[in-house]
Amino acid sequence: MGRGRSSRVYVEHPEYGSQPRFTGLDVDPDDDGVHLHWNTGLLSEETQKYLKKLGCDPGSLGQVADVIPKTAIVADVDRQTAASYPVTHYYDIVRRCRDCDRRFIFYAVEQKRWYEELEIPLEADCVRCHPCRKEMRELQEKKFRYEELSHRESLSDVEHLELTLCRLELMEAAVFGGKQIDAVRAFLNQNRDHPRAHEIRERVGKISPEASGGRYVKGRRRNRDA
Ligand SMILES: [Zn+2]
Repeated sequence: MGRGRSSRVYVEHPEYGSQPRFTGLDVDPDDDGVHLHWNTGLLSEETQKYLKKLGCDPGSLGQVADVIPKTAIVADVDRQTAASYPVTHYYDIVRRCRDCDRRFIFYAVEQKRWYEELEIPLEADCVRCHPCRKEMRELQEKKFRYEELSHRESLSDVEHLELTLCRLELMEAAVFGGKQIDAVRAFLNQNRDHPRAHEIRERVGKISPEASGGRYVKGRRRNRDA
């Protein structure tokens, strides 16, 4: 994937694509009644004062993004969560993913959906690209399933395999440390002729025994914060 000369390359979003969605609209954050999200870094003095009054330092809020001009859309302030200061317009903004370090666009329409339909508070920020968010959700589900299976008193053969694959995948994603490898090896010892034994053995071979759970796996999660 080469770097485009005229247009930048952004991580693809399955619904919104990978290029800015131009609406032709720009607003001035210093105009009366205009409030932009803190993630734009374009806060009017009035908004900054308001945030400070709440005990919130606008500079410490989080990652400030590149705002893409002419992509603004109008927000419906009444639909945002009441505790927040209202945001009157959303912009497409460029972010860098916390996990894979690639650039992605947090779309204005996506923000509208987050803050007006899904009732996500305006303070919440989008720090991961769509594929990484999806992967994180899947890993969380896997971890949940692992917890569930590992606390059962007895497991069927199918469940034992599932537990082993959960362990393996969570180690591969550096969510689990290498200690779990012993449990996977125990499974292999008990099931030498299992149809998936060969595949599991190969995957185990690729996991370094000193993996601590904090190592960086390219395209995977960087931190073990779940
Ligand atoms: Zn990412």
